[in-house]
Amino acid sequence: MSDVQQYLGQEAVGEREGIGGMRQLDIGVDLDGVCYDFTASLRHYLVTHEGYDHADLPGGGADDPDTTWEFYKDCWGLTTEEFLTACDRGVDAGIVFGHREPFEHTVETLERLREKGHRLHIITSRSFGTRSHHNTSDWLERHRVPFDSLVFSDHKTIIRPDVMVDDYEKNFRAFMDLGIPCLLYDRPWNRHIPDSGMRVHSWGDVELSMNAFAANLDRL
Ligand SMILES: [Mg+2]
Repeated sequence: MSDVQQYLGQEAVGEREGIGGMRQLDIGVDLDGVCYDFTASLRHYLVTHEGYDHADLPGGGADDPDTTWEFYKDCWGLTTEEFLTACDRGVDAGIVFGHREPFEHTVETLERLREKGHRLHIITSRSFGTRSHHNTSDWLERHRVPFDSLVFSDHKTIIRPDVMVDDYEKNFRAFMDLGIPCLLYDRPWNRHIPDSGMRVHSWGDVELSMNAFAANLDRL
């Protein structure tokens, strides 16, 4: 079975030249930790549906310096099984992948990038519960997140954009190993990765980097 579970608005990924010699890029965009606060949505589900108190679920946030990739274990004391069950139930309750605002400046930056002729390819892993695709599509629509294609897959290199934006070490390295530049969105769980000039700290940084790529794809 294919890893690609859904693909909307598909167009061939390919090289295009825009006005004034600026490249129009195919930009791959991760959701969790880049556009969407997954941890906060899971916390909201546990507090509103499973009887947890906010005090039971400290840290774990995108801006909390002590947050680790396995925040549910290291910050919240959940087992992996408890975490996975909570994710499944949180998705089916319509909260995980559906609740919360996008991170600050996400939508307007994506809009500006698209106005410049760049194409946005959202790729995200969505395997929890029975309605994670539905929640995600609804969330994108509700917050008017612009995109040209949407792919659900655990294997992000299934798309080959000109440049990717991701926060997870595994994906960052996978794209870089393929020679596809990947902007590493700065989060507490990736700060152990040595700086190679690809780290961005905000959507403003992402936009500046995309401008540089569009001017000269081979050099940031
Ligand atoms: Mg992510």
